[in-house]
Amino acid sequence: MLRPRLIPPVDIFPPNPWAIEAVRYDGRMARELTGQAETMFALSNGYLGMRGVTEEGSPVREAGTYLNGFYENRPISYGERAYGFPKVGQSILNCPDGAVMKLFVDDEPLILPDAEILSYRRILDFRVGTLNRDVRWVTPSGKRLHLRTTRLVSLAHRHLAAIAYELTAEDAAAEVVITSELRNDQPLATDTSDPRMAEGFVGRVLQPTGTRSEALRAILSYRTGSSGLVLGCGMDHVVEADCALAAQAGCDDDLATVVFRGVLAPGRTIRIHKYLSYHYASGADPAEIRSQVAWTLDRAVESGFPAILARQGEETARFWERADVTVESVNPRSQQVIRWNLFQLMQASERGEGHGIAARGLTGRTYEGHYFWDTEIYVLPFLIYTNPPMARSLLKVRYDMLDSARARARELGQRGATFPWRTINGEEASAYYAAGTAQYHINADIAYALRKYVEVSGDVDFLCRYGAEILVETARLWCDLGFFSDRMDGRFCIHGVTGPDEYTAIVNNNCFTNLMARENMRYAAETVRMLKRDHPDSFEALVRRTHLDADEPEAWDQAAERMYLPYDERLKVHPQDDAFLDLEKWDFAATPEDHYPLLLHYHPLNLYRSQVIKQADTVLALFLLSEQFTLEAKRRNFAYYDPLTTHDSSLSVCIQSIVANEIGLRDKANHYFNFAVAMDISDLGGNMMHGAHIAAMGGTWLAMIYGFAGMRDAHGRLTFNPCLPEAWTCLGFCLQVRGQTIRVAISHRAATYGLVAGAGLTLWHGEDCVRLSEATPFVTKPVGGAAGGADASEP
Ligand code: BGC
Repeated sequence: MLRPRLIPPVDIFPPNPWAIEAVRYDGRMARELTGQAETMFALSNGYLGMRGVTEEGSPVREAGTYLNGFYENRPISYGERAYGFPKVGQSILNCPDGAVMKLFVDDEPLILPDAEILSYRRILDFRVGTLNRDVRWVTPSGKRLHLRTTRLVSLAHRHLAAIAYELTAEDAAAEVVITSELRNDQPLATDTSDPRMAEGFVGRVLQPTGTRSEALRAILSYRTGSSGLVLGCGMDHVVEADCALAAQAGCDDDLATVVFRGVLAPGRTIRIHKYLSYHYASGADPAEIRSQVAWTLDRAVESGFPAILARQGEETARFWERADVTVESVNPRSQQVIRWNLFQLMQASERGEGHGIAARGLTGRTYEGHYFWDTEIYVLPFLIYTNPPMARSLLKVRYDMLDSARARARELGQRGATFPWRTINGEEASAYYAAGTAQYHINADIAYALRKYVEVSGDVDFLCRYGAEILVETARLWCDLGFFSDRMDGRFCIHGVTGPDEYTAIVNNNCFTNLMARENMRYAAETVRMLKRDHPDSFEALVRRTHLDADEPEAWDQAAERMYLPYDERLKVHPQDDAFLDLEKWDFAATPEDHYPLLLHYHPLNLYRSQVIKQADTVLALFLLSEQFTLEAKRRNFAYYDPLTTHDSSLSVCIQSIVANEIGLRDKANHYFNFAVAMDISDLGGNMMHGAHIAAMGGTWLAMIYGFAGMRDAHGRLTFNPCLPEAWTCLGFCLQVRGQTIRVAISHRAATYGLVAGAGLTLWHGEDCVRLSEATPFVTKPVGGAAGGADASEP
């Protein structure tokens, strides 16, 4: 059950619609919340991510520099093995940290929690895409220094990060030493008490493969022992000082330093621009990777920090133009928290082309940097509507995993393809099959996202070239995994799977899975027929690549047609699976508050034998396949499952909010939305320190667009049924649909649909057809009755 733990105090973090801003330094808080701040102030471009550790490198909880897809294999050790258990897992690696720039004045180090601070500001600026600090420090001997830093992880050049470091002696001459470092700290610490945390490695992980240094530049390179990846990382500096500044460089396998020394006269300043570059490639020549790092650094030095900063601003502005969601609310924090969520989505995805999105993006190592269904169901809709090329790239990443998924299906004795529940390189990395491999629904989730992408973007070419093959292989899997059961009147049943709710495992006929599998098979059959009819060349290529038999699509149709969906006549609900309603209900009254999340306090068996739900499961189907349920069915199912759901996963409340909205439970919808939007900023799960929950951020977008704006888009038909929370006066956002851009602005009285770019399109406002065209670029429709009580004290 979610309880707020940390709400950033207003006197330190005032509301600001365009930034997370700390306006004062509180040493106690800084020490206690070091980890949370590292996540809150993390920077990333989807390829390179740096946690928000301060330049001084202390206090530090979990330093982290991550590259998307840079991992090492790790043997999975089991007490007892069984056939088909993955033998090797993958874990994202912590790369050498280049953010460190330690400051000593008259030999006294600046360590913020111990220092006398005159003024302090730290700003994660959403508009510019930078992390800035402005600190005025009185040294132990009474000298005043003014330090300003600007840090960015470039959106324009994904291998580049940069720091502008500016130090002024305010009132007295100061002997200054600044040590700039690039350090490889291995191995990593591990918290073994929480199964969600990444496993550590024993011994050295990154094997040095040479260094290169000249003047103020140093480049390190490494090779991973088993995954065969070669990493290069480097730093360079450009200095401009109002005093003579001596620089001494040193470089060994794990530490490169440049130490700057000088005496600053009062009123004088030292400016250092530090550039960092990271590259990696599989099986590459380390010397070549070091050269790539050098070229990135050359380019950065040539451009200079102001130009890099300006470019960052432009790229960030482009993101907001596409993806901003504006909310006018009585709560001044609303816009800030919403934008922080959107900013995290941008940071997790923007330059991650060719890679997946890890559960925590590049802000932490939790779940080992693995890609889950989180991407397809929670994040892709946002990208489909705001950044279609990135949505395409993510689906292409799945396509690239298809051969591994085929091999895995064969290993599991199945036809078709079985995508990994969690992975970086396409191999199944889940050690706990009951809540891993058994979550076959991921195959249908990928197919579902693929369909949405194709329908919304109109990118049939992707379907022809890649998507159809995914559909054929996943449809084959379902057709083979399930069977027509004589005992169930010849219905098609799927046994021995786990649905999204991980507190119920290895069940027969998980309703969500069966529904999604049905969609998967139907869409596959439709697509094959469409290709045959409209794209004969693509059809032939598909047949060649998949050895498709002419009668397979019909078999999928039959399985879909005869799909068994559990239904309880007495309760008039869909049981989550065949056995769920027979289980004893969990004793919530006897569960102490501090025993949530239950997974950290109860053996899985206790959970599996009870009616207790970790996250939206049947309720998720009510949303994803909304058009297949009547309002009455949604009401009944929601009423049954909602009280049993603990929301022990951050993927839950956003979905409950959407369905609650649709069935008219406005207070509940607002209540759940407030939890979804504040999941990390208020540290509701208590684990924000280990990274941001990217699916919850995507879920927040879903809850605004599909929840309050009431959007539905089944089969490409775009409909809105808006109803805002009382605390909001306006909700505005843009969507890209089939190459056109529309802008939606909703108030309690009206919804305005505007055509921002494109020739025109048709959508629906409730039952009213709205045709937007160049001649009629704006249409306004009345919105009926304001929504019920929002809690204005929450976002
Ligand atoms: C959830 C999964 C999710 C994973 C990664 C788990 O706690 O139950 O549904 O995919 O976290 O976010």
